[in-house]
Amino acid sequence: MPRCDLLLGAACAAALALPVAAGAAEPAAPAGPGLVEIYKTLHSHPGLSHHEETASTVVAEELRRAGYAVTDHVGVYPDGSHAYGVVGVLKNGPGPTLLIRADMDALPILEETGLPYASHVMTKSPTTGLEVGVMHACGHDIHSTVLIGVARAMAAARGRWHGTLLLVGQPSEETVDGARAMLADHIYERFGRPDMIVGLHDTNGLAAGTAAIAIGEAQAGTTSVDITIRGIGGHGAEPQAGRDPIVLAAQFITQMQTIVSRENDPLEPAVVTVGSIHGGSKRNIIPDEVKLQLTTRYFTDHSRQVILDGLRNMAAGLALSAGLPPDRAPIISINEAESAPPTYNDPKLANRVRAALARSLGPDKVSVSEKVMPSEDVGVFGLEGHQIPLAYFSLGAMDADALARARAAGHELPGPHNSHFAPVPDLTLATGVKAMTDVALTLLGKP
Ligand SMILES: [Zn+2]
Ligand SMILES: [Zn+2]
Repeated sequence: MPRCDLLLGAACAAALALPVAAGAAEPAAPAGPGLVEIYKTLHSHPGLSHHEETASTVVAEELRRAGYAVTDHVGVYPDGSHAYGVVGVLKNGPGPTLLIRADMDALPILEETGLPYASHVMTKSPTTGLEVGVMHACGHDIHSTVLIGVARAMAAARGRWHGTLLLVGQPSEETVDGARAMLADHIYERFGRPDMIVGLHDTNGLAAGTAAIAIGEAQAGTTSVDITIRGIGGHGAEPQAGRDPIVLAAQFITQMQTIVSRENDPLEPAVVTVGSIHGGSKRNIIPDEVKLQLTTRYFTDHSRQVILDGLRNMAAGLALSAGLPPDRAPIISINEAESAPPTYNDPKLANRVRAALARSLGPDKVSVSEKVMPSEDVGVFGLEGHQIPLAYFSLGAMDADALARARAAGHELPGPHNSHFAPVPDLTLATGVKAMTDVALTLLGKP
């Protein structure tokens, strides 16, 4: 059941597509499908990064229905291909411009929640070529649905705010090249440059009905790195005749962990993770190469440099110690397109958002969170050097009792990027819409 008691008046009813009582102070946006229904549709039709066709169509359609001027297919990637970005604009007189961002892409994970609306979508992995499941395992379907709810609520509450709302459905957050693709397509030149940016992400660490926000540093920066460890292939029974890249890759992966533990400043958090390793085709063949895909996390330019220098030095040393000729040295490619700066919550704006959240949900439902190592490309919208202030908050998505039981048993409920991640839709969506709407009404409130 939609929790309309959590929301306010006509704005609530419009957000949840419920009938509005006659004589309500503000006009409702034209009715559309209920938010839970939209969420389940998005959840069961996920699209990987660069392939968010369904989500972008739904978001564009619903923003249009809510009265926004909508442009879709916004965004261009470095290879010239188009992106599925959506921008909805609602002008409401002179005043500040607020950008609210929701991401829309899913992950290459086979869903194992067993939910009636679980995804059964399969596709070919763009990175490995193997058949993979596709799942909204990061809850971007929650974010997109909340955006639609906020669009309806803000349209219905037009009398209570002034300025311009820019609602952004962003593609390709998981590959962290979606925000950049939208900037490359000149969204600020085309739709106006915002004065403030807000966004949210669901979390398994909080019960639905609650939220948390970090003040200052919020999320780590990330740089993706691809490494090809080359060797000299041959018969598995005669390793001495070649140079085994599988053994070299194993050495490299182990040694690489000393970058964080021995080379980086212990006071600067950093992570180096190998998330994918592929090499070989048969037991008795030594392959020519092994391919590694890495993600790196940090909060400072200095740590980033230490990590990248460490990877280069260790790879070069590995080839030297294996006696490989220079033309078989490892190939390291820094994927700048799949990199994002740390997410920095502008303290002044974050404190305003925190106060708005506390008023909206209740002071006991809103906490201040610590910075975390997962990354986001939402900070890209703030431009180099945090030119546009940003505040990004966490939205609780778990059943409170289930969360308490799990913690009493000493573990956490499955979270983002886990095949069992299962936000509770009703309360999470109602809270997300109420929280974000109240944040927007605060930031665009009439003086
Ligand atoms: Zn994610
Ligand atoms: Zn995410």
